Amino acid sequence: MKRKDESVPSLNMVARFKKLLKEKDREIKIYRKSIIKKNRTIFFLIREGYEKKLVLLYPNDVEGVSANFISEEEGKLGGFWNYKICPCNRENANELRKNFPFTRPRVIGLTPAIGCGDRIGLATPGHIRAVRKFNVFPVLAQQSIREMTRTARTPRDVLDDVSWSVFQEGYKKGFASDADHLKTEEDIKSTFEAGFTMYTLDPSSFVDDEADKDDLKTLKEKFERIPWFDLNCDKEKFLDMYLGKEFIIEDGDNSFKISFTEENLIRAAVKYSAAIAHILRLKRFLDRLFKDKKYDLEVSIDETESPTKPLEHLFIALELKRLHINIQGLALRFVGLFEKAVDYIGDLKEFEETLRKHVLIAKKFGPYKLSIHSGSDKFSIYPILGKIAGDMIHLKTAGTSYLESLRIIARHDPELFKEIIQYSIKCFEKDRASYHISTKLSMVPSVEKVSDEELEKVYLDRNPGRQVLHVTFGSILTLKKGEKWIFRDRIRKVLLDNEEEYYETISKHIERHIRGTF
Ligand code: ZN
Repeated sequence: MKRKDESVPSLNMVARFKKLLKEKDREIKIYRKSIIKKNRTIFFLIREGYEKKLVLLYPNDVEGVSANFISEEEGKLGGFWNYKICPCNRENANELRKNFPFTRPRVIGLTPAIGCGDRIGLATPGHIRAVRKFNVFPVLAQQSIREMTRTARTPRDVLDDVSWSVFQEGYKKGFASDADHLKTEEDIKSTFEAGFTMYTLDPSSFVDDEADKDDLKTLKEKFERIPWFDLNCDKEKFLDMYLGKEFIIEDGDNSFKISFTEENLIRAAVKYSAAIAHILRLKRFLDRLFKDKKYDLEVSIDETESPTKPLEHLFIALELKRLHINIQGLALRFVGLFEKAVDYIGDLKEFEETLRKHVLIAKKFGPYKLSIHSGSDKFSIYPILGKIAGDMIHLKTAGTSYLESLRIIARHDPELFKEIIQYSIKCFEKDRASYHISTKLSMVPSVEKVSDEELEKVYLDRNPGRQVLHVTFGSILTLKKGEKWIFRDRIRKVLLDNEEEYYETISKHIERHIRGTF
């Protein structure tokens, strides 16, 4: 009998399960790509109404794997088979990751990657479809502490949503998870506990932007106050190491020289040394958490006032090396403007020239990847990235998938979209404070003047509308009346009602990012 049970094809059993529910007047959607068998148990994801659930089908004499999943409903499926319907909750997500390692994030090292952040928690299947086509490695769970705070999601929520989506799509090629812009040990702790594998350390509160303009006297005073002890160094040793040193950085036809003079060295040290000491503190904290030291590390200094000069980049690389901080990625502040939701603003030739230098430094003094933050919608620079550094790029995108989600709302629920526009306009001045963007409210037409057919074009294809919607995602996704979300649940419903179109829309958009870059 056992043999006979085993030979029942999974699809047959899944169809039988669907029929059984239909007989009880329950319509479900089965995510066919999720169907998988383990220890004679068939697993797959379904959606009933607006809720996704995990289903397990298993013969009478098999319990094993199914026992650890918490069910909300169990029953018989013919004589020899049983079913279990399980909520997609935290406990079951843990169990899923235990049983199916492909739903767990992993360490990626120097593999080039595209970061696909998702603020709503439903976009990941679209991201997976895009990276599948191009065979690019994805960082699917990617969220900064700031974004998590603004969307009222925890690190665990972010990771769980991704694990379920990976399962839904049957995506087995692996993904990473990026705890982005971490500033404190507390940030690290909460993301570590959730299971993140990549840590992007942001020491920006220790970067002294004033150093760009300080005169030599001020710089020298500040130089005395650098936390030398934390840097395993003292002033004399430091000067001895760098002062007067010349570095020739070459690769084939390209070469350039960097020499440390008293002024440029002290300026770089004053600007970045306290930040480097902070990175060292956070890195030691990570090492204590990860006893096996298996995690990916990125350092982000992309939020400084002025672009990172090649000399500053070299200085940071040398200091990280001296302190044995082995990084897989570094996010610099590049020339030009990387405003949210719009294309690169700046001189492409200048971008290319400076990128070339940064790439050479990253290769010679790492190697590590160059991480491009606010990387979405920068279509004019992708060919340059691809040409010069395709094999060492980590391109991060996030907000753009939120905007693509709103495209679905504009098409299918214009009334809801108009409410979102109105509330976004209302929150814009407050929410824009933490972003560098050039949109002014006067550039955004009021919603009464726009017909339903034009909503997408006016607010999602043109820059001012895009930026207003981009920076206000937190206000939209967390507005509540009593216990009820005002927008969040309605947005989710429209997206799920139009699920396939939604995934395709997200995928198409992410493909445009991948095509030129990798
Ligand atoms: Zn950043």
